Amino acid sequence: MGADQVSTLQSYIAGRWVGERAAKPLASAINGRVVAHTHEEGLDFAEAMAYARGTALPNLLRSHFQDRARVLKALAAYLMERKEELYAISAHTGATRSDSWIDIEGGIGTLFAYASIGGKDLPSSNVLHEGPPMRLGANNHFIGSHVMVPKRGVALHINAFNFPMWGMLEKFAPSFLAGMPCLVKPATATSYVAEACVRLIVNSGLVPLGALQLIIGGTGDLFERLDESDVVTFTGSADTALMLKAHPNLLKKSIPFNAEADSLNCAILAPDVTPDDPEFDLFIKEVAREMTAKAGQKCTAIRRTLVPAKLVDAVASALKARLSKTVVGDPAIEGVRMGALASKAQQADVTERVAQLAQNCELLLSARDGFAPKGDNVSEGSFFAPTLLLARDSAASDAHHLEAFGPVTTLLPYGDFDEALHLATLGRGSLVGTVCTKTPALAAQAVPTFAAWHGRMLVLDREAALENTGHGSPLPKLKHGGPGRAGGGEELGGLRAVKHYLQRCAVQGSPTMISAVTGEYQRGGAVTESEVHPFRRYFEDVEVGMSLLTHRRTVGEADIVAFGGLSGDYFYMHFDEVAAKESPFGQRIAHGYFVLSAAAGLFVSPAPGPVLANYGLENLRFVTPVAIGDTIQARLTAKRKIDRPPRDDQPAQGVIGWDVAVTNQRGELCASYEILTLVAKRIAG
Ligand code: NDP
Repeated sequence: MGADQVSTLQSYIAGRWVGERAAKPLASAINGRVVAHTHEEGLDFAEAMAYARGTALPNLLRSHFQDRARVLKALAAYLMERKEELYAISAHTGATRSDSWIDIEGGIGTLFAYASIGGKDLPSSNVLHEGPPMRLGANNHFIGSHVMVPKRGVALHINAFNFPMWGMLEKFAPSFLAGMPCLVKPATATSYVAEACVRLIVNSGLVPLGALQLIIGGTGDLFERLDESDVVTFTGSADTALMLKAHPNLLKKSIPFNAEADSLNCAILAPDVTPDDPEFDLFIKEVAREMTAKAGQKCTAIRRTLVPAKLVDAVASALKARLSKTVVGDPAIEGVRMGALASKAQQADVTERVAQLAQNCELLLSARDGFAPKGDNVSEGSFFAPTLLLARDSAASDAHHLEAFGPVTTLLPYGDFDEALHLATLGRGSLVGTVCTKTPALAAQAVPTFAAWHGRMLVLDREAALENTGHGSPLPKLKHGGPGRAGGGEELGGLRAVKHYLQRCAVQGSPTMISAVTGEYQRGGAVTESEVHPFRRYFEDVEVGMSLLTHRRTVGEADIVAFGGLSGDYFYMHFDEVAAKESPFGQRIAHGYFVLSAAAGLFVSPAPGPVLANYGLENLRFVTPVAIGDTIQARLTAKRKIDRPPRDDQPAQGVIGWDVAVTNQRGELCASYEILTLVAKRIAG
């Protein structure tokens, strides 16, 4: 669909576009003109599910986590190049350019973020090991750990109208990475944006056949067709969430239902802040921004603004002054900062809810204060005036349970900070909350109460303000989703989101078997003694379990003295005979870092070769101290391999993690760790 064309939207089912006959008209939020129609044809969900299970799933499982991370990156770049097409279509939703930026580039950014998370944290297989393993027997013949594998089912994503693209992509990215085919059902009102995005994705040819199907319109009998291995995610109203998650088929088959629903988020101006503090202005700016961005149609917007009773007038006049300057109208017009609600239905809904809220509130700012959206033909648009209410009784206010999904907030005065924290909990579970304070102790006081009721918390002060990403902006690496009325679900949060689409299983067995199962060498498992030094092998030629047992080295006093001299570390344990005797070790011992360095000297292969760099180590433990006269030896074993996508500015390479065990003459473990090396590939590219 072009920006000015009226088309019939199509679903994308079983590898083809479905829908020729126009059904429901979808109107522009700016001027009410029809911008698209849904299609009349019903969808065959039996066919959609059969295609997802029979074609898409095997396609996806032929690839592994790393492959799919690469697809996400390519897809993100592809969409980014075509973003202007999406901006043109998104304008019909009433969004300003910066609102659309959240939806479009925020969505694409989430694809990039998951490409990077997958590339860094996931293996080149479809088995994710959640270590570390634990010993289940005294002699390390029996260990246990956890693995996570693709669920081998289908993800059904149902989205809200407010972020048709971000909402879709933030759910698609982790589920695709996990290896699940997705069926996406956007909210009908703005489904033309989601359709345009899916069309681009399909045309890119990057995503395996069937990995993404699109449903325009209702879900028909789809819920009856879901199976035990499927997942449903939902964003929208609490009422719809309740109805859908109670579907008998979901309950019968224990199908996970991840919901993100209405949330009455709050921001608290702490009692230590005065109007002269920078925090006061920051608070006003944050509340006003959350009211006006996307015309307040954000699940994270601040609906409840908690302020010390003595500052109510100051906050109210500062907010009114700021909101009065916000130019509302057709975002195509220069200077417009706030657009329209997404539809007439939303406009009617918000009007009704504000009227309900106003029954026990004072209206401080509303449409009655000379509201006139800018633009030609905007009378048929879905505009709504920034609306500020003041509760007469903060604890009894309807603002704690009634969400007006628009540019609306209610001021709730409080007496002391404990009361403010109590009021915050009356939202019965929120996605996000802000505490604006200049006092660390108040932030620390707020967190335990706040965190129990919120999915995310922003502590706003003058320092954070320098880089604040915003109360209302979920970030790919931080959890999004809140308890209770916010739906009880969890999205994003980096790798956590991918794990929602994987199945976790505990595995028990010998270290050799667990090594084979996890694809990671487990200490105590069988190793392959490598005839060629492992550091002389290219990435492709190193196999997990390849190992080198080094020659030995006896540690003398001269080593300790030399290392102390080099490092400047004259800690008494290494240099003070008397104090060391009185210590738990009863004698002088070598520096732990000397043992580490000496072990590198034992296992390194010094001549130039495929190992390009040693970039760190993990899980270092000094277990048994090394005393003067002890003889140490190291075992180096290839533990895990992480393939790296080719880059123009680097030789082709991968990461190899090496398990290192340093032992003494009695076979006791002295040091244990994993070193990470970059290893060149034999075949470039
Ligand atoms: P709804 O709950 O009505 O719709 C959300 C999604 O569910 C849409 O895709 C909708 O599709 C779909 N849906 C509705 N009924 C069914 C059904 N029986 N079977 C399958 N899918 C269904 O929310 P709205 O989008 O209309 O928004 C209403 C209110 O929800 C807002 O005013 C706001 O209060 C809240 N909301 C909360 C959000 C959040 O992130 N927390 C985000 C957006 C809204 P369709 O559009 O085709 O009906």
